[in-house]
Amino acid sequence: MRLATWEAIEMVKLNDLPEFDPGPKDVIIDVGACGICGSDVHAYVEGAWTAPGKPLGHEFAGTVSWVGAEVAGLSVGDRIAVNPAVPCGQCARCQDGRFNLCNNRQGGGSGGFADRVLFTNGTVGRQLFVMPDDVSFEEAAFLEPLSVAARAVDHAEIKLDEPVLVFGLGSIGACVLQVLLAQGAKDIIVVDTSEARREAARKAGAHEVLDPIATDVVAHLLETRGTTTSPYQESGAIGSIIDSSGAVQVLPGALTLLRAAGTLSLVGLASRDAAININDIVQKEIRVQGSFAYTPADCAYAADLIATKKVDLTPLVSHTFNLDDITEAFETQRQTATSIKVMVSPTA
Ligand SMILES: [Zn+2]
Ligand SMILES: [Zn+2]
Repeated sequence: MRLATWEAIEMVKLNDLPEFDPGPKDVIIDVGACGICGSDVHAYVEGAWTAPGKPLGHEFAGTVSWVGAEVAGLSVGDRIAVNPAVPCGQCARCQDGRFNLCNNRQGGGSGGFADRVLFTNGTVGRQLFVMPDDVSFEEAAFLEPLSVAARAVDHAEIKLDEPVLVFGLGSIGACVLQVLLAQGAKDIIVVDTSEARREAARKAGAHEVLDPIATDVVAHLLETRGTTTSPYQESGAIGSIIDSSGAVQVLPGALTLLRAAGTLSLVGLASRDAAININDIVQKEIRVQGSFAYTPADCAYAADLIATKKVDLTPLVSHTFNLDDITEAFETQRQTATSIKVMVSPTA
């Protein structure tokens, strides 16, 4: 079977490997689709979070082709969406319920750019989610980024009738928009420099879509959404902001736009440090909340959104490539102006 591994910067190798020899806690999944994550692109372009020979691809869905004797609730032929992370359940953070911060992950499965994945220690309803027949593999492969987005939205403490602002419309930001729409937010403003991504957000139903090159976002939102006052600050009237861009230059404006007691939910990883006015945070009691990965509960929520078609993910698939064309797939995903989510499939 084929499996793509990272070998060096801008070099992904397609290996021909023997078939798996599974054990009683294992499940074999015939991959239907695997999305290229932003972290996969960081690995490809910069060598981040990877090493030679390491498999790439953790956003996958497919068909169960083998089930170990100790795995309950799954049958050969089931179509499943996969949460690749298996937290230990024992460490201090797991005991706190912060399973996403477990530093002792057990098993799981990666290497979704492959014909098959061997998944170890997965539990149905926590890592392995059976999907209805009318959910495509590409939709199901959004489970992981949608879970990330669901956590970031949860952290943003949105009030449905207040404006909520989202920076960045890559696949996480686009999924954030889907979660906000599914929850019924009444005024969702999204910002991105890519016309293709803005167009997808417009079609998805974002209430206002802004190009930060053409529009002074802060001035525009102070004018259209109004201002608020607190003891030492004049501010905008935005209750919640989610940054999925990692573009640190947006943060001073975000702090200006937030009303007192507003929330800034940060889910985008940044490649440099931010210069922000700490007094904005102190005097307005702004809550700045990081959001990293997801817990099994976030995943269960996201799986339900996908299974019940409360989110519309298919338009986010900008390209699909066969596994044989994995390098072209990575080159396409790195072009942020024209790609949203690139999918790789063994059978495309
Ligand atoms: Zn991912
Ligand atoms: Zn743990």
